[in-house]
Amino acid sequence: MTARIPATLIPGDGIGPEIVDGTLTVLDALGAPFDWDRQVAGLAGIQVAGDPLPPATIESIRRTRLALKGPLETPSGGGYRSSNVRLREEFKLYANLRPASTLIPGGRYDNIDLMVVRENLEGLYIGHEHYVPIDDDPHAVAMATGINTRAGCRRILEHAFEYAIAQGRKKVTIVHKANIMKALTGIFKETAEQMYERYRTRIAMDTVIVDACAMKLVLDPHQFDVLVTTNLFGDILSDLVAGLVGGLGMAPGANIGADAAIFEAVHGSAPDIAGQGRANPVALMLAAAMMLEHVRLAPLASRLRSAIGTTLNVDNVRTADLGGSASTEAFSRAVAARVRRG
Ligand code: NAD
Repeated sequence: MTARIPATLIPGDGIGPEIVDGTLTVLDALGAPFDWDRQVAGLAGIQVAGDPLPPATIESIRRTRLALKGPLETPSGGGYRSSNVRLREEFKLYANLRPASTLIPGGRYDNIDLMVVRENLEGLYIGHEHYVPIDDDPHAVAMATGINTRAGCRRILEHAFEYAIAQGRKKVTIVHKANIMKALTGIFKETAEQMYERYRTRIAMDTVIVDACAMKLVLDPHQFDVLVTTNLFGDILSDLVAGLVGGLGMAPGANIGADAAIFEAVHGSAPDIAGQGRANPVALMLAAAMMLEHVRLAPLASRLRSAIGTTLNVDNVRTADLGGSASTEAFSRAVAARVRRG
């Protein structure tokens, strides 16, 4: 019998509870051995505990080191920091893995199978910004500081190389802007080239400047395999690759760190369709598949992915964003039925 695995479950805001319910339906059908500890965060955290990231939620993840999370809303005003950024910092979630694979053939490109590995804690994204006043203009000059450390570069690059080799991938592409930002992203490229000495017999590596990379991804995504890059470039490129395979409703993400791993859909809480039962739960289901792989239950992850593919393409059951008419619940029940049929 498979050992039970404690895991934190955060339904989140907006469509979060709907897609989480759908995902639990298919995980139950799979017999996934998670023991869920349900916690709140985001707007729900403020309503229940007066904090978008209540101490009980942090304690739960500290204990389980594993979480499945619906999207969280950060209220504008009120001085709240983003719960997602706080979670990254609290659990040192330094690697953001964003796969993009074709699930519905016949789109702009078929057979896409890309992985963007984004550094999640450093770079220009860290938000160290300020204004310099001149004369009567308090915002005359805007400044931002980016920080990339050698240790941070090593940590994410090692993760990317090891991940790529373990998954049987063929190539790791280092995405940078070292021609212009010679220090900030030069350190990333230079560290990759040094580290590659350790990996050169096991996998191919090349380097590409980020703007050229964006163009090449759109013209011919098949020339790439695993892309690894700094925080801001990763943020942008991972949405670009999501667009290559059908948009945000199909894009899962994993945040992996020294102290925990948190799995989520890339999209937000979709307040415009919340409560209507129309949300597409595929991204969160694919995040659950990544979570199963993380706890070394890869066969269950494969069954889940194949059930999603069959539901979409053979049964032709799809939610409205994919041109179908199925509700979140009906789609989830259809995937669960496919899981049970094997
Ligand atoms: P969004 O991703 O919530 O929505 C963008 C558009 O995509 C909307 O039209 C929405 O209806 C649609 N959409 C998104 N997911 C869908 C799904 N699963 N099925 C069908 N349609 C879907 O982006 P937004 O409106 O910019 O953000 C809303 C809130 O979510 C904001 O408060 C933002 O801060 C938050 N957010 C949270 C996360 C996270 O927790 N990881 C990520 C992004 C945004």
